[in-house]
Amino acid sequence: MKKILILNSGSSSLKYQLFETDGKVYNVLAKGLAERIGIPGSNISFQAQNDEKQIFKLELDNHKTTLKAIFDILLKNVLQSMDEISAVGHRLGHGGEYFDKSVVINDDVMTKIYETKDLLPLHGKAFIYGIEAMRSILPDVPQVATFDSAFHQTMPKEAYLYALPTEQYEKYRIRRYGFHGTSHYYVSRELSKILPQASKVISCHLGSGSSITAIKNGKSIDTSLGFTATGGVTMGTRCGDIDAYIPLYIMQTQNKTAEEVNLMMNKECGLYALSGGYSDTRDIEKKYYEGDEQAITAINVYVHNVVKYIGAYTAEMGGVDAIIFTAGIGENSSFLRQKICDRLAFMGLKIDKEINAQRGKLVELSTKESTVKVYVIPTNEELVIAQDTYNLCM
Ligand code: AMP
Repeated sequence: MKKILILNSGSSSLKYQLFETDGKVYNVLAKGLAERIGIPGSNISFQAQNDEKQIFKLELDNHKTTLKAIFDILLKNVLQSMDEISAVGHRLGHGGEYFDKSVVINDDVMTKIYETKDLLPLHGKAFIYGIEAMRSILPDVPQVATFDSAFHQTMPKEAYLYALPTEQYEKYRIRRYGFHGTSHYYVSRELSKILPQASKVISCHLGSGSSITAIKNGKSIDTSLGFTATGGVTMGTRCGDIDAYIPLYIMQTQNKTAEEVNLMMNKECGLYALSGGYSDTRDIEKKYYEGDEQAITAINVYVHNVVKYIGAYTAEMGGVDAIIFTAGIGENSSFLRQKICDRLAFMGLKIDKEINAQRGKLVELSTKESTVKVYVIPTNEELVIAQDTYNLCM
C-alpha cells in the first residue's frame, strides 16, 4: 500500500487528504482544511478515518508554515514518518493549452505553470504556493499536477474560440479554457458506469463557483466558464456572463481601476449582489420562503441562467440523454434542483419529488416516464488526483 497526499491550495486556505492505496482501492486515512492563512484567527481541521473532526488554532503565516503544521498533525495521528509519503498530488486551476492531462512536476512543468498563473487573477498564485512549499519540504518525493482546465482541452475550435482579433488567440492565447474539469470528468465517469449508453450528458457543477459542461461520448465539447472563472452562470460572488463592455464602462465612468473592477466581478457580484448580501444558497432559500424580494430575484436569475445553459447544450449536442447535478448546491439543494427541473419539463424531463428531497447522495432523480435521466452524483476531485498521482508515479 502507498500513501499519497493530495493538496488543494487556495489564496488563504489549503485542503488536504491523505490516501492509502494499492492502485485499486483508495482509502482516505485523514483529511482536513487550513483556513485564514496569513490572516489572524487561522486554524487547521483534521479528521482521521472514522474519527471526530478536530480543530487546531495555530498561527499560519504562509503556505510553507501551514504545510509544516499539517505534517506535525499527520505525524502525531496517522504517520510514523514523512518518508511514508510516496507521492503528492496538487490541484491546479489552470494549465493553459499546455496540459490536457495530469503530469509529474519537473522544472519544465513549473515554468509552464508560472506562465499560466496570471490567467486566474485571484487564485493563480495560490496554487503555486502549495507546490513551491511542498517541493522545498519533500524535495525527493514525486509531485503531480492535475489541472481544472485539462478535461476541457477536447473542446472544438468553435466552442473555445472567442470572436476577437486573431492575435489575441494566436499570440496571447485568449480563448475559452473552462474549469471544474476534474469534477466534470469524475461525475461523467461515474455516470458511464451506471448508464453506459448515455452519450449526450450535461454536467452541472453548482457550488460557490458553478459551471455547466456538455459532454459528448465522454469528452467535454463546451463549458460555461471561459478564459477565467468569472463567466457562465451566476455564481456565489462572481458575476457570470455579462456584456463584455460593462467592466470598461464602469472603469471609464466611475473612475475605478482594473484591480477594483476585478475584485468587484469576483467578490461582490453574483447571488451575493442580487440577494442583498448572501452568497450561500441556504441563506437565500430561507429568505425566499420569507418572501424577501431580493432573494426571490436572486433565485430566479440563478435558475434562469442554469436552464439557459442546459437548453443551449442540449441544442449543441442534438439532444441530451442525462443531466448530472453535483457540488455544494447540486448535491444538496433539493429546492434549486426542483426549480431547474420544473423548467425542463417541456423536454419530457420529470423528477421524483420524494427522491429529490434527499441530499448529498448518489441517486437517480428522474421518474420512469422521464425522457431524460437525471442524477445527483457527489463529486470527488481528490480521488481523481490521487488516481492520476498513483498511475503516474508508481
Ligand atoms: P462548493 O463550492 O461546491 O463547496 O459549494 C458550496 C455552496 O453550496 C455553498 O455556498 C452553498 O451555497 C451550497 N450548499 C451547501 N450545502 C447546501 C445545502 N444543504 N443546501 C443548499 N445549498 C447548499
